[in-house]
Amino acid sequence: MRYGEGKVAIVGAGLAGSLMAVYLGRSGYRVDLFEKRPDPRIEKGQRTRSINLAISARGLDALGRVGLDREVLDMAIPMRGRMMHAQSGRLTFQPYGVKGQAINSVSRANLNLVMIEAADELSNVCCHFSAVLADADIDNGVLKIRDPGGGSISETYDAVIGADGAFSSVRAHMVQRQRFSFSQTYLEHGYKELTIPAGPNNSHRLSRDALHIWPRGGYMMIALPNIDGSFTCTLFWPHEGPNSFEEVSENEVVQFFESNFLDVVSLMPSLMEDFASNPTSSLATIRCDPWHVGKAVLLGDAAHAVVPFYGQGANAAFESCVVLDECLKECSGDWRSAFATYSHRRKPHTDALADLAIGNFVEMRNRVTSPMFLLKKKTEKLLLRTVPGYLPLYSMISFSTIPYAEAVHRNRRRNALTRNVVLLAGFALVVLLLSYLLG
Ligand SMILES: Cc1cc2nc3c(=O)[nH]c(=O)nc-3n(C[C@H](O)[C@H](O)[C@H](O)COP(=O)(O)OP(=O)(O)OC[C@H]3O[C@@H](n4cnc5c(N)ncnc54)[C@H](O)[C@@H]3O)c2cc1C
Repeated sequence: MRYGEGKVAIVGAGLAGSLMAVYLGRSGYRVDLFEKRPDPRIEKGQRTRSINLAISARGLDALGRVGLDREVLDMAIPMRGRMMHAQSGRLTFQPYGVKGQAINSVSRANLNLVMIEAADELSNVCCHFSAVLADADIDNGVLKIRDPGGGSISETYDAVIGADGAFSSVRAHMVQRQRFSFSQTYLEHGYKELTIPAGPNNSHRLSRDALHIWPRGGYMMIALPNIDGSFTCTLFWPHEGPNSFEEVSENEVVQFFESNFLDVVSLMPSLMEDFASNPTSSLATIRCDPWHVGKAVLLGDAAHAVVPFYGQGANAAFESCVVLDECLKECSGDWRSAFATYSHRRKPHTDALADLAIGNFVEMRNRVTSPMFLLKKKTEKLLLRTVPGYLPLYSMISFSTIPYAEAVHRNRRRNALTRNVVLLAGFALVVLLLSYLLG
């Protein structure tokens, strides 16, 4: 079978599944895309809660390869840096990169819609909504799909792509196999989404070109702007213990906010209602190895869910679509070799991202306010402006497509070099001082 030939099932029309359907559909594959939720186009235009996410260079690169980047950027709000809100209300702005560089706040639903519409335009891609994976024989590529009426159909495919998210059903069929390693590590913090509604005439009530952070040591809140003038806030809080979802009730939450997030509480008139009605969700890192068994392979969060503190989960999922497509081309459409090459090539990078994302949580909730951190950021900015080719770690991750593990490696090597130079300079200074003192 050659590249572009054959029949593929993609389970999950979330961010990764819908983009992969566009890639494969444009290459000529016959694609069935199954999604358990109803068709989002039917609900289009109805007012639902805005949930957004940050798309940066890797996501835009993957979207750009199928000509969807412009459409996504047109509905995005560029965020040039972090705006830190101290307990005292003092604001500090830290740019993410050099002038013109920004990460982009996009509505998750609209982003998904762009890709679903692009996939559905292709005559060889068939989108099935309210279609749930009920069972799978992954060795033979047979899927049993349940329809909304309670009936089910079984269909055989040359390949099955499990893009069904962090709690993947396709992966559940792999976990039972020998030599399939799997780990799911929960953070002790969970999260809840809250809202700052728009001001008059859809104006933003905080500066709209920044990702806002309220770092408070053991917990934090962030807010990303939406095009309708509102902000989606995410409160990251421990599940248990003092100042936690378990301890603070909906009746106490306004008081808690008045003590800890005073500058924003007046902008959140429905805080108590949002807190009571919006779900509290968990955050997990998923690792598995390999990413393929039989005729099935995992894509996006199903293979490599990470905690959201580097704003990279969806960007990485999009980048994985590019890598899978490249592997298929390189292996001339031989699914099994392509899956093995993809899993082997990509996993070290998403593992590196998983570690970075956990590390960045500590930085965001804690270190962003420390004088040492601010000095480091200022030094990085100076080096970025003056040293040709210098890229801080954040820039390598968010503004380049340097593979994640390589970015981490380059950063480590550079830090070691800087440490040695500083030690050497210190030693030379001591020698000079001693020789001066001893005459
Ligand atoms: C609070 C939070 C903030 C985030 N912020 C960012 C950010 O700023 N930037 C960023 O890049 N990433 C961010 N992420 C990560 C990002 O949301 C995920 O990495 C991304 O959604 C992964 O896409 P996916 O398609 O793999 O999975 P999903 O988006 O979860 O899609 C999976 C799809 O599969 C469907 N499905 C599941 N089971 C079945 C079944 N049995 N049958 C049929 N369909 C099924 C689901 O309905 C869903 O549509 C954030 C995550 C969280 C939790």
